[in-house]
Amino acid sequence: MANEKDAHACTLDKIISLCKRRGFVYQASEIYGGMAGAWDYGPLGVEFKRNIQNEWWHYMTQLHDDVVGLDSAIFQHHTTWEASGHVGHFSDPMVDCCECKARFRADTLIEDYCENHNAKTDKPVDTMSHEEMKAFIDANINCPTCGKHSWTDVREFNLMFKTYQGPVATESSLVYLRPETCQGIFTDFKSIVQSNRMKVPFGVAQVGKSFRNEIIFKNFIFRTCEFEQMEMEYFCKPGTEDETFDRWRKDRWQFYLKYGIKEENLKWHHHDKLAHYAKDAYDITYNFPIGFEEIEGIHSRTDFDLSQHMKYSKKDMSYIDQDDGNKKYIPYVIETSAGLNRNFLMFLCEAYEEQNVGTDGAEDYRTVLHLDPRLAPITVAVLPLMKKDGMAEKAKEIQQELKEDFVTDYDQSGTVGKRYRRQDEVGTPFCVTIDPGTLDSSSPEYNTVTLRFRDSMEQVRVPIAELTARIHQEIKNYTRK
Ligand code: ATP
Repeated sequence: MANEKDAHACTLDKIISLCKRRGFVYQASEIYGGMAGAWDYGPLGVEFKRNIQNEWWHYMTQLHDDVVGLDSAIFQHHTTWEASGHVGHFSDPMVDCCECKARFRADTLIEDYCENHNAKTDKPVDTMSHEEMKAFIDANINCPTCGKHSWTDVREFNLMFKTYQGPVATESSLVYLRPETCQGIFTDFKSIVQSNRMKVPFGVAQVGKSFRNEIIFKNFIFRTCEFEQMEMEYFCKPGTEDETFDRWRKDRWQFYLKYGIKEENLKWHHHDKLAHYAKDAYDITYNFPIGFEEIEGIHSRTDFDLSQHMKYSKKDMSYIDQDDGNKKYIPYVIETSAGLNRNFLMFLCEAYEEQNVGTDGAEDYRTVLHLDPRLAPITVAVLPLMKKDGMAEKAKEIQQELKEDFVTDYDQSGTVGKRYRRQDEVGTPFCVTIDPGTLDSSSPEYNTVTLRFRDSMEQVRVPIAELTARIHQEIKNYTRK
């Protein structure tokens, strides 16, 4: 039986249920039975996702003088994907059950088996050949769907979605939905250098949709066919890539701490098997309820990308370093590649708490999201204590003013305690309550409101005239206790 602590722990099911109930995330095409691997972001989800994206953008481009932004097209010339290696190599190992036809990613099938059965492979799974995977599966694993034991060979499956541009489907009209955002950064490298007089070293940041025809979708929004990436390619002089790699590893780690992720919930995963062009690669993994899983990859990619585009396009992609005697070279690249949707799930899991706020030994649990106020979908909720005696009108007036600076919500239904709970559950850091004192010119509380803090549940009285400034100050000084 689950103990007291377990019963109130964060689980993926609880997060999924909260997301649906409160309008963060819905199953796409639910009225038609749902679409595998596709999710819609509801009214609160879209605000929350946008806030994560905006904070990432602010952090990467505003706070780093050497990083500029880009928004390149989803569709790129099909040669882009030949040059990048995606047409030839962007695939996962796949294996099918011959009995029930269920399909699996061979590497995850092995990893899941090892985790559930305390078993080990002779070498890291990502370094195993197809034959080695097949041998391990044949020797150990029954189909998780039907329980039988008859497997196909392990073979590669290309993850790119294909379509055709224009009315006729021919080889020359073939286009791909991009599986990562960064190739547009590489193909635009020369334009960015020339138009913005950029000097190496510098980075280019981009946020946008990517598409992957994943073999299996699982764990809610963790692995989907359509997702958003927040990527940055940093171009540096050959020979400086190791220090640049270390710099960005440290920097990206700090980003997560800054927005409230506890350091013990983050872990580095070093890639044992590197892509043929890569010099080094690490993932930042987060301690999801399903275990430590990747949220961001940081890769040292050598000059592979620019060299490949130079070879395929026959355009010179080299850089002339005026600060180093006009030396000509192809810059090396350090990439930071984070998933926006996985960040979304991570921040929700990190923030989620079922907290006993009962007094005198009584149990009274509230669900609260301790989100950083910069990420919370609603910043301030305005609540009249009662609808009568002009309180609702005054509350609307105050909300109108706050709207200029913050995302606000207005709620007048139910007891104020219940309304606080509803706001806690979606992570609203501040509630403003208007009561009879606010409107009573003979009261010392005249023209003041109650400002209530989500995490501590403390309440302070604040003059209406100082409310906006006070909330700004609280956001700036916020740290999760
Ligand atoms: P994984 O090993 O989980 O498939 P990956 O190593 O292929 O991920 P990258 O190509 O490095 O991932 O992509 C960078 C980031 O994009 C990942 O860290 C992840 O946050 C996000 N991402 C990649 N694939 C998906 C997906 N199918 N759904 C949601 N996010 C994804």
